[in-house]
Amino acid sequence: MTNIANPANTIDIIKKYDFNFQKKFGQNFLIDTHVLDKICQASGLGKNDLAIEIGPGIGTLTEALCERAGFVVAIEIDDKLIPILEETLSSKDNFKLIHGDALKVDYLSLLAEHKEFSSIKIVANLPYYITTPILMDLLEKRLPLKSITVMVQKEVALRMKAAPGTKDYGALTLAVQYYSDPAIVQEVPPHCFIPRPNVSSAVIHLSLHEKTPVSVQNPALLFKTIKFSFMQRRKTLVNALSSGFHIEKKDLQAMLGSLSYPENVRGETLSLADFALIADGIEELQKKS
Ligand code: SAM
Repeated sequence: MTNIANPANTIDIIKKYDFNFQKKFGQNFLIDTHVLDKICQASGLGKNDLAIEIGPGIGTLTEALCERAGFVVAIEIDDKLIPILEETLSSKDNFKLIHGDALKVDYLSLLAEHKEFSSIKIVANLPYYITTPILMDLLEKRLPLKSITVMVQKEVALRMKAAPGTKDYGALTLAVQYYSDPAIVQEVPPHCFIPRPNVSSAVIHLSLHEKTPVSVQNPALLFKTIKFSFMQRRKTLVNALSSGFHIEKKDLQAMLGSLSYPENVRGETLSLADFALIADGIEELQKKS
């Protein structure tokens, strides 16, 4: 079987196996070969790369990844899709299927099994109900990944790429930009999938930083600072951080003043570099108390 993405082929496979789409698994299969090519191009996959795919479905993207990558590991949660994948990808000798939950996979052991590949790329049409947990899990583990090229909800892609002061800017933006450089590759309308999702989608490419763009004494404290600043968006930074960290407002005001921030500054206008300075300031305040 080749070219699963062709809508007639997808429908044939679904009928042959009497497959029922499961909403709870975020199953919207891609049926647009142009979008498929765009994902593959953006990933820059080559024979020296190990590709990891989360949620292969019936093998639509997997088939294309096997053509380009040195080896492909795909992780699928749905029991019903396992026999289908075993057939649709039976001719591929550079492919391994893991039946399980992508949030529970031991990625370090998986990479150790394929250590002949120094370049590892994640490529996927992600299930939308767990897009953020999957991406944050992969980024926070600091796995030696080159890039992540994924289909996500358009709204999530815009949040990852947002600039300070815009409505989409928030904790997700800063977390993604701490670990990577995001670029939106293409917007994808609902009719490119079967069944059609209720939202528009977008392909986003995250090129992982070898070195983080800011250095802080305590990265966990940086993320806590960001979290508290955006938890109550309408509060000033002083108020948000004071209730989050239980630090006196006057101490926070003095620290922010020493860094030349105005008293009424809000988190939504601050860059990642600003948050790094402020997190180090909080670290000092906590050491003193
Ligand atoms: N890659 C296929 C395509 O492009 O047509 C299917 C993409 S579909 C949006 C998402 C896939 O992720 C489904 O096959 C679904 O069963 C699978 N999935 C959902 N939750 C998962 C999880 N926690 N771990 C692994 N796969 C999951």
